[in-house]
Amino acid sequence: MAKEQLECSFCGRKKPETNLLIAGLDAHICDRCIEQAHGIVVEESKQIESNDLSAELKLRKPLQIKEFLDQYIIGQDTTKKVMSVAVYNHYKRLLQPATNDDIDIQKSNIVMVGQTGTGKTLMAKTIARMLNVPLAIVDATVLTEAGYVGEDVESILTRLLQAADYNLDKAEKGIVFIDEIDKIARKSDNPSITRDVSGEGVQQALLKLLEGTVVNVPPKGGRKHPDQKFIEVNTENILFIAGGAFDGIERIISKRLNMQAVGYSASMSDDVVDQNNLLQYIIPKDLKDFGLIPEIIGRLPVLTYMDPLDAETLRAILTEPKNAIIKQYKKLFHMDNIDFSITDGALDYIVDKAIEYKLGARGLRSLCEEILTDAMFELPSSEEKKLNVTKLYAEDKLTKTTLKKLKAVS
Ligand code: ADP
Repeated sequence: MAKEQLECSFCGRKKPETNLLIAGLDAHICDRCIEQAHGIVVEESKQIESNDLSAELKLRKPLQIKEFLDQYIIGQDTTKKVMSVAVYNHYKRLLQPATNDDIDIQKSNIVMVGQTGTGKTLMAKTIARMLNVPLAIVDATVLTEAGYVGEDVESILTRLLQAADYNLDKAEKGIVFIDEIDKIARKSDNPSITRDVSGEGVQQALLKLLEGTVVNVPPKGGRKHPDQKFIEVNTENILFIAGGAFDGIERIISKRLNMQAVGYSASMSDDVVDQNNLLQYIIPKDLKDFGLIPEIIGRLPVLTYMDPLDAETLRAILTEPKNAIIKQYKKLFHMDNIDFSITDGALDYIVDKAIEYKLGARGLRSLCEEILTDAMFELPSSEEKKLNVTKLYAEDKLTKTTLKKLKAVS
């Protein structure tokens, strides 16, 4: 066949009428048909994705979401329950058909209040892992320091885009975890005296993002290259989870509950109010009194709290979660054919030290690392194929100096 007689087997255009004609085994396709076909593929895969989502939703009711969280996170039952419902509703919202009944399901952005190291980040990470959506973890304090607030808040979305490998569709259904949200609170309850303008400015800038808006996002972040192309990101379906320690909020709660935070003067109400865990009584007004502006609180409608970690919980964190620290060491040693075990006494000792030195859950890992470093260094090149860590062994490895060092780090 002469060259000029070649034609697209799909639309029949002759070769000279096309920009490109690609040959197959015994057919040809032109550039226009390729583009059209590509369009169909994209549309189809969107359809499949939304079907995936509804299948996912069918599969994971709040109860199943909580069961998934249980595999990775110890305790924190209230928050797990609240999160399960919020996430479930969030994805129901994504699937809501366009109706004209005027009922628009609002976003269920979440705010978690709890001491550092109680599992707030872990909660967000686990949810993102379960849903297989991109997660961006950002620190609200960074936003304050940068000053030029309005622009900087967008960097949150740059992170999310990066986490989604620049797949806009994925990013727009992702999760953003804003850590230390309490650090952008106004420092005083009295706006006229010590108004922390920068903090409040960040809060203002966050408002739109939380609510749902289209933002021009510099894909590489930063503002130094004004000519870099922006990507338009719609935050409408992004789930925002904010977390913070809100140091001192117990006092606000306690005041509201009309009693003293410490001492016995509140003996009257002691039997109903659990003094050791005042966070469980938190209400949105407490966040306002702490210094979050009401608009922000309104856009984080799901409020929940984390329980402080007691010895029992710390002990369980060491061994029970699916990827518990001890399981990880076992696996590491196993790769060198070393049989690793640890006694209950040693585990209790590690927990005791974490509490004594106020290291929290984060300290458990550092303590284990200190105890096991020598073994991890020596055993792979020795004949010894067994390691049993007893309390005595742990005590021997953890000297006062190392403990002090750990404390300084945490
Ligand atoms: P936060 O965000 O509240 O400061 P993280 O989620 O970063 O705390 O937790 C710190 C570390 O402690 C993580 O390594 C996490 O695995 C562990 N951890 C904390 N709380 C729990 C928990 N309830 N269950 C399992 N691991 C936990």
